[in-house]
Amino acid sequence: MLRCKSCGKEYMSFRVLCECGGLVDYIEERPKLFDSCLDKRFLDVRRYLPLLPIKESFRPSVTLPITPVVERDIADTKVFFKLDYLMPSGSFKDRGTYVTVAKLKEEGIREVTLDSSGNSALSLALFAKSEGLKAHLFIPGYTSKGKKRLLRLLDAEVHEIEGSRMDVHKKAKSFEGGFYVSHWFNPYFLEGTKVVSYEVYEQIGAVDYVLSPVGSGSLFIGLYKGFKELKSSGKLELPVMIAVQAKGFESLTERSQEKTTLAEGIAIPEPPRKGEMKDIINETNGRVVSVGDDEISQALSELISFGFLVEPTSAATYAGFKVLLSEGYFEKKAKILIPLTGSGLKNV
Ligand SMILES: [Zn+2]
Repeated sequence: MLRCKSCGKEYMSFRVLCECGGLVDYIEERPKLFDSCLDKRFLDVRRYLPLLPIKESFRPSVTLPITPVVERDIADTKVFFKLDYLMPSGSFKDRGTYVTVAKLKEEGIREVTLDSSGNSALSLALFAKSEGLKAHLFIPGYTSKGKKRLLRLLDAEVHEIEGSRMDVHKKAKSFEGGFYVSHWFNPYFLEGTKVVSYEVYEQIGAVDYVLSPVGSGSLFIGLYKGFKELKSSGKLELPVMIAVQAKGFESLTERSQEKTTLAEGIAIPEPPRKGEMKDIINETNGRVVSVGDDEISQALSELISFGFLVEPTSAATYAGFKVLLSEGYFEKKAKILIPLTGSGLKNV
């Protein structure tokens, strides 16, 4: 069931916004216990299916893997890199798309519209090709050439818009061609990204800190949701949630004068779920770090030297970690989760 955050109206069918314009949340009518719901026959996303709002008969034919974790000791801390850039379309967005596409199938929706800086468009294009859906994908003109070529390869209907990320969003929202599924609003997208936390819990147990890149917040909120459910199942305490933002595009802290050009994936100055993210930071005693081009390119080159071929937006998270490390923020032996969200191969 979906419920409006503003007026409380409830919906049984798929909506990304309430009639009143408010954001809607997915509400589990009867909360489930983590252990008793795992389908232990599987070592892929099907393992967690009973915890997701997906009916078996509408499960997408693309099956998502559980992504690997690589551990590294860095300056007296234990860093766990979660390699989400190894997802089928090369980014964590496949997690949100997976649940979204299952709901679209359930409701018989065959034509959809999405705006994206590149990665979620690629993700939807891949699933749309696999399921035979028609997808109208709105992307900014500055999206990398590699991503544009991949979109063409996937036969997507691409609408390239000149202007800022917010201009692209406005164009897509007013387009009347298909059902609008922007992950900025879409409550089912968060039901997919929360699976990262389930996997991390089974792979390494509880962590002390979680850093996440924050533009629209679809990963940050999903991670929190997953950890919150694990906490309700008596599995762990909530980690400290740290939002890493791009300088010049901060939504959760004072905006910098400097404008980053390297983190296109999180260059979103006004995300609709901003209030929710502020609440998460307060509840977990977390904080916000902003990083600029110098920090991001330094972090990217270090990640590549570790063997992680990620894109610059993904390196922002590690750059945020380095900033906090230099402040002496982490205690010795702290366990820190850093999801690596997008593949660098798409930018070639
Ligand atoms: Zn409402």
